[in-house]
Amino acid sequence: MKYISTRKNNEQVSFREAVINGLSNNGGLYVPKEIPKLPSSFFKTIEDYSNNEIAYKVLHPFVQESLNEEQLMQIIEETLSFPIPLKNIEENIFALELFHGPTQAFKDVGARFMSRCLSHFKTKKEQALNILVATSGDTGSAVANGFFNVPNVAVTILFPKGKVSPYQEYQMTSLGKNIHVIEVEGTFDDCQQLVKKAFTDVELKKRIKLSSANSINIARLLPQMLYYFFAYKQLKPYVNDKKVVVSVPSGNLGNVTAGLFAQQMGLPVSKFIAALNTNDTFLEYLTTGIYQSKPSVLTYSNAMDVGNPSNFERILYLYQQKIHLVRKYIAAYSFSDADTLEEIMQTFKKHNYLLDPHGAIGKLALSQYLDGNSAGVFLGTAHPQKFSEVIQKVIPEYVSKKVDLRNCNKQTISNSYQEFKEFLHSTI
Ligand SMILES: *Cc1c(COP(=O)(O)O)cnc(C)c1O
Repeated sequence: MKYISTRKNNEQVSFREAVINGLSNNGGLYVPKEIPKLPSSFFKTIEDYSNNEIAYKVLHPFVQESLNEEQLMQIIEETLSFPIPLKNIEENIFALELFHGPTQAFKDVGARFMSRCLSHFKTKKEQALNILVATSGDTGSAVANGFFNVPNVAVTILFPKGKVSPYQEYQMTSLGKNIHVIEVEGTFDDCQQLVKKAFTDVELKKRIKLSSANSINIARLLPQMLYYFFAYKQLKPYVNDKKVVVSVPSGNLGNVTAGLFAQQMGLPVSKFIAALNTNDTFLEYLTTGIYQSKPSVLTYSNAMDVGNPSNFERILYLYQQKIHLVRKYIAAYSFSDADTLEEIMQTFKKHNYLLDPHGAIGKLALSQYLDGNSAGVFLGTAHPQKFSEVIQKVIPEYVSKKVDLRNCNKQTISNSYQEFKEFLHSTI
């Protein structure tokens, strides 16, 4: 399987190169040249396969050029070392809980898969790879955890001071070793700006080999296809002849794009829903046909506060830029912070199930779309514990996890590029 750029050119690279490069050399995102179909017999008997067997079947065609059977099996085993259960919440509504990994958000799967691929790709003789990540919380924790102690790879994470939860900060800063954390006096956009500037700094790139672990990296995206297969496997006994709908709490649209890939492989899902907070760029595109990025707005579901979703380009590519095809496969809904709190409270009261703010938006969007002929799954993308400050607004008795930030490893800088660059030079 070769990978090509969403902004077409002659470039064709292996999985290994796509992972190491991160972004194509013409600024496009890497996509697989074709998406292989699995036989319908596989879906008829999917419950006979273990999760690891499913993962191998799904991922093997995408990586076979760069990883042998044994390496892929080992990566899968390490990546999927925690349960991904499907819970029935109310009639025809199910939650796929993706938050039982080490940092309690779905990004653990992508970060673990990517780090383990890289550790096979990097040899000792090569120059060490420096991964730069700007984060509003969850990406930083998952990447820090996934790359901790990976040989020949150093990670630098930038987060906006005071704008991540104490628990997220603890998850990033408690590791040390090859994980460097910078607290920036500024916003998430400032952090992203510093990272972008580093990637275009020719002088810096001569001295340091840089790469990214944001969801533009294809190695983070591909393993996310597995969620949808695991959901279908567990949902199948309940479905009968109903259509299957999946609602995905979305920010950069990486997770929903992975679902669309799974559908193209043959997975019987009739519709995907991009569940959005007030950052509704994608909904406006579906409604008006015009894509207009916006500055991001801060909400309770902060991992979805994205005004210019990077994977939009992959979705357009998948449907040959045709909006009627995008509309055929994806719907979108947007909800406010007030809707989010109300949903957390109601679901807790009526069904004794605790939603995090992202999952709450996923469930709201699903309920809006569902009719009597379909069964739906929403993704629980984060553990409620990570957002206890929000949950306590409607469930005051909810107890938050205490964290000790005294022994954290972080450095504070202003939002000046010069300071950031000096920091990078000091870490190599
Ligand atoms: C990152 C994240 C999202 C958004 O996922 P995308 O792939 O960026 O659309 C949703 N929920 C949580 C908890 C996240 O961490």
